[in-house]
Amino acid sequence: MAIVGAGFAGLQAAMELEGLFRRSPEQEILLIGEVNYFLFTPLLPQVASSYINPRHIVQPVRDVRGSRRFRFLRDRVVSVDLAARRLRASSGTFDYDALILAPGSRSDDFGIPGVREHTLDFKSLEDAVNLRERVLDLCEHADHTQDPAERARLLTFVGVGGGYTGVELMAELRDFFYQYVLRKFRGLRARDVRLVLVEAAPAILRSVHPSLARSAEERLRRGGVEIRTGAKVSRCLPDGIEIGSSEFIPASTVVWAAGVRAHLLVESLAGPHDRTGRALVDQHLQLEGHPEVFVAGDSAAPASAPDAPRIAPVAIDQGHIAARNVWHLERGEPLESYAFQDKGSLVEIGMNYAVVQVFGLQFRGYLAWLFWNAIHLLKLVGFRKQIQVAFDWALAMVFPRDAASVRQPRACPLCHPPEAAPAPSAIPGREVEGA
Ligand SMILES: Cc1cc2nc3c(=O)[nH]c(=O)nc-3n(C[C@H](O)[C@H](O)[C@H](O)COP(=O)(O)OP(=O)(O)OC[C@H]3O[C@@H](n4cnc5c(N)ncnc54)[C@H](O)[C@@H]3O)c2cc1C
Repeated sequence: MAIVGAGFAGLQAAMELEGLFRRSPEQEILLIGEVNYFLFTPLLPQVASSYINPRHIVQPVRDVRGSRRFRFLRDRVVSVDLAARRLRASSGTFDYDALILAPGSRSDDFGIPGVREHTLDFKSLEDAVNLRERVLDLCEHADHTQDPAERARLLTFVGVGGGYTGVELMAELRDFFYQYVLRKFRGLRARDVRLVLVEAAPAILRSVHPSLARSAEERLRRGGVEIRTGAKVSRCLPDGIEIGSSEFIPASTVVWAAGVRAHLLVESLAGPHDRTGRALVDQHLQLEGHPEVFVAGDSAAPASAPDAPRIAPVAIDQGHIAARNVWHLERGEPLESYAFQDKGSLVEIGMNYAVVQVFGLQFRGYLAWLFWNAIHLLKLVGFRKQIQVAFDWALAMVFPRDAASVRQPRACPLCHPPEAAPAPSAIPGREVEGA
């Protein structure tokens, strides 16, 4: 049997399967993952803001496995031949008798021109590290430029998407600028920094209670983050974004956190899909016409919960159900159904503030932030990682953030620009905001 993807759903499924099949050594459990570690995505924004060390939020898959018996293969699965029951990966083909597909998701650009070319993704560890390095490069350049307009452009960061990713990222960047950059870079002032969060819907954080979302918005605004709700991005350009047909926000950096689509591996499978490309699977997570194939996590839309949010607890639960159903199928037993269980929402708004709704309770502020920290520490995979992150947090209370740039200046896109960006005035029909 095979599992594709060593994220929240895939890893859960692998651990579950080896427990269930521990007395069946003839059954091989193969977990294929594109990277050799499990990534704890909720802490990615803190990597971008130099709050925690990138290596502390990843756990090598083989360390999770310990002495257990599933086999891990670091490889990229490129296609699934459902009829032949065969996976094609970069290193060869692999036959399966049962398959759990859990490759996660990708960003959705909604067909908006320029998103792919001119915005940064924020999904992987590499994305977070690249953003961190870019922020540091921009600060270095802005620090010694004599031109105030250029300094303002370099230090304008736009986050598109007012979900938890966009909100947590902008809050983290805000903390980084106000708690570190403005204290350490003598050439920079608060008025040079502009952080803008753009959301097409009338409000941010639509997955939490409106009163909590308002508190989060208020906190961000008071901290200096501009929030633009009801603002639809119509075009992304090398030097900023267009909102509607008339407004342009010049920015050095635009991070795209506006939407999620199913992974291409799943979206390209035959059978029904929802409008974001997720496979419409039945309540047992089985693919239509292929009872031996289960889809779990961000790329699954189960009939029993088609609107379940794409979050880690949902992926873990689905990985668990998919594995158990592989076991039941093997034994000819009735299958279990997936049902969405709302385990609450936790959103961190930078250091010392969070909004939380759990067990029917809502709270916000410092206590909520401590709760957010405790839960995320508990959920991190591996005791060593828990200690490392706890130390990162504790050290950040006492010492400045570790803002050393770890890549060579020759990799800095500002020192060596890939291509010259057209001046705003060179693009017809565009008005520059504030010009
Ligand atoms: C920045 C960010 C912050 C988030 N914050 C939160 C949060 O605070 N709380 C929360 O609940 N959720 C959060 N999420 C959402 C959460 O990460 C996802 O819902 C969850 O990861 C989905 O689990 P999954 O197993 O479906 O996919 P993933 O965890 O993404 O795992 C997919 C795995 O498949 C691998 N893979 C992909 N393609 C292939 C291939 N072709 N071959 C082999 N392997 C492949 C990937 O490398 C990855 O390891 C956040 C997501 C992001 C991006």
